[in-house]
Amino acid sequence: MKFEQRIPRDTSARLFAEAQEYFPGGVNSPVRAFRSVSGPPLFIREGHGSHMTDVDGNRFLDFCCSWGPLIHGHDNAHIRERVIETVRRGTSFGTPTQMGNRLGKLILDNHRYVERIRFVSSGTEAVMSALRLARGVTGKTKILKFEGCYHGHVDQLLVKAGSGLVTFGTSSSAGVPESVARDTQVLPLGDRDLLEQTLTDHAGEIACIIVEPIPANNGLLIQDKSWLECLRLKAYKHDVLLIFDEVISGFRVGFEGAAGYYDVQPDIITFGKVIGGGFPVGAYGASKEIMDYIAPVGPVYQAGTLSANPVAMTAGLAALEQCLEPGFYEGMAERTHRMATAIADYATERGYPLHVPHIGSIFWLAFGRERIERADQIDPANMEYFKIIHHELLQTGVYLGPSGYEVGFVSSAHTDTDLQTAIAKICAAMDVAFDGAG
Ligand code: PLP
Repeated sequence: MKFEQRIPRDTSARLFAEAQEYFPGGVNSPVRAFRSVSGPPLFIREGHGSHMTDVDGNRFLDFCCSWGPLIHGHDNAHIRERVIETVRRGTSFGTPTQMGNRLGKLILDNHRYVERIRFVSSGTEAVMSALRLARGVTGKTKILKFEGCYHGHVDQLLVKAGSGLVTFGTSSSAGVPESVARDTQVLPLGDRDLLEQTLTDHAGEIACIIVEPIPANNGLLIQDKSWLECLRLKAYKHDVLLIFDEVISGFRVGFEGAAGYYDVQPDIITFGKVIGGGFPVGAYGASKEIMDYIAPVGPVYQAGTLSANPVAMTAGLAALEQCLEPGFYEGMAERTHRMATAIADYATERGYPLHVPHIGSIFWLAFGRERIERADQIDPANMEYFKIIHHELLQTGVYLGPSGYEVGFVSSAHTDTDLQTAIAKICAAMDVAFDGAG
């Protein structure tokens, strides 16, 4: 199929060509390179509310939301004003600050599943620290993860790890030593027998099970609550720690994330994205007993020059305060449900092979008609449909993350009119993609 550009992209193309001189592949994070969709990546100039504008002047209704952090959309006035106020007093001191205390208190007062938290600067750092903590607490080395779950670019976890890798047709990263990969057991999601067997076979070796409780990095692979309960029980039974990686789901499907949504208590939770209000923040939290293994109290070392940076803490605080407004999550979920259902109904009426799994304010355009719960149920051939849909949407002013394995996010800045517009444009894009396929 020929991907005719009906919008100007010359300035983005020029800047992307220039960026090749500076960055590998012209980007600072791989999926941004638009390798599996049409045209050069868009260079974004600014964003306000639910929309962003690129350097060629094209305006897009944004459902990528910076890959999830922007739960209140772009340029949220409350976050902006608070951040400016903080910046005026200086940007970093390398000391404790009141802003850190305030964000810590807000989270712990409203999240029943963690008693102590440590701020870091990215989701990857949170996960890396959580693994070290789990090993430090248990004195064991191996970790168990699941196919299709991405946990950042931590060496041990870059095995069968979701969108970034599958978009480029690999399941693992070069540069991860065999000796490190050997300590990672990878299982398919949902296979309870294999889980039991692996935990038994490696008795005394496995420090933790790490899972995205709402896997959202290889499509949106919504799991049954009973699977998470099973993980909980098996972790207790085999004396391993259960880590929920809530970098996406945390503060997104509810203030208490997936732990609260399913009411399953993990031992450690990792956070990122929404927690920083658009600034680089990650965190990990657990019971006081477990967190007391962290330096300077305990023997597990973890530190960071910009950890709990006051500007980032301010942004996180301003974002999370708004999440605590009554009805916030219910409203987001309801509107996302309406949009997802309208798109899915349209597809069903026309016999198009597409459905729209969604949870909270996360949704995914899933190809095929059957529910998809595991990474291997996704047919890579269907990504050609995604390429067409993505292209059509760019032409009509809707921005989705540039890979069919990525989920979409609705923000509180998306109005009902925005969602109606999105429904109409996504349906029209499906008509182009599935022309004759029904
Ligand atoms: N864990 C999960 C579930 C993620 O989705 C991501 C990023 O997408 C990470 C960890 C890594 O976070 P970061 O990109 O902030 O390092």
